[in-house]
Amino acid sequence: MTKIINGRDVSKSILAELKAEISGFKSSPGLAVILVGDNPASKAYIGMKKKACEDLGVKSFEFILPAEATESELKDLLESLNQRNEVNGILLQMPLPKHLDEQKMLELIHPSKDVDGFHPVNVGKLLIGLDSFKSCTPYGVVELLKRYEIETSGKHVVILGRSNIVGKPMAAMLVQNCEGGNATVTICHSRTANLKQITNSADILIAAIGKPEFVSKDMVKDDAVVIDVGINRVDDQSSEKGYKLVGDVDYESVKDKTSAITPVPGGVGPLTIAMLMTNTVKAYLQTNS
Ligand code: NAP
Repeated sequence: MTKIINGRDVSKSILAELKAEISGFKSSPGLAVILVGDNPASKAYIGMKKKACEDLGVKSFEFILPAEATESELKDLLESLNQRNEVNGILLQMPLPKHLDEQKMLELIHPSKDVDGFHPVNVGKLLIGLDSFKSCTPYGVVELLKRYEIETSGKHVVILGRSNIVGKPMAAMLVQNCEGGNATVTICHSRTANLKQITNSADILIAAIGKPEFVSKDMVKDDAVVIDVGINRVDDQSSEKGYKLVGDVDYESVKDKTSAITPVPGGVGPLTIAMLMTNTVKAYLQTNS
């Protein structure tokens, strides 16, 4: 029997646990969210983050800069937020307009407030197994595997995609010598040869490539666990919006071959905000305990 991994339920549980924890705090944790420009998808994301803050009792500080904001304006804002005691976490919504250097801007966030886990200090700490803020989406995958009691120790995990926000930190988390780690990890990317042969050797296959329904049935071993990080919009005239969301895995054809699988939507997606809130509470506790 295939287990359908329900990310919405796991996310709700995590958020409820955090809410209970926050209710015992002397003050509210604070999260600053910065949007530069008016990208509709980014606006929707920050709206969801704001709502999660309200539900949990986290104070949110929203900063919307015009698309033509300069590097020095954004730098000034980040530096002022680094100094503010009531701001525990800072999130700079990506993507930034082309004229702004994303990496340079991310590095201006103090590592102790880097709740997205993108600062090189946190990425480096994660890699060598030190306590750090972990990138929220792969951190969510680890949490899903843990809560569904899917063993990673000694398993071959194949990750499709080597991005800095998903593929690489995912590998760094699963390879650690700790609970939820101890996997043998292979990372694949667009230059990988014999991809199908590698994916077919995966006990756990994690797809994060941004290609709709790319992973087909013949790429998956019997009874493998399949985690689909992909979120892709494809045309769908039967839906009111004219599109639907699909993952990087051809869910319908792959599902029955697996022992467990995440759907899209409702799988990995909801975990990202839950882990952002987890990181925000962690940041708060580091200065308030
Ligand atoms: P990305 O930065 O575009 O990276 C994609 C990676 O996939 C690259 O490493 C690329 O290889 C690799 N790739 C592309 N085509 C491939 C192929 N045919 N075979 C093997 N590897 C291939 O994407 P990302 O930001 O990591 O996001 C990946 C997906 O996850 C997207 O659908 C995104 O929307 C989704 N996502 C979801 C969440 C969430 O659930 N909250 C968060 C983040 C991302 P090269 O390096 O060689 O180009």
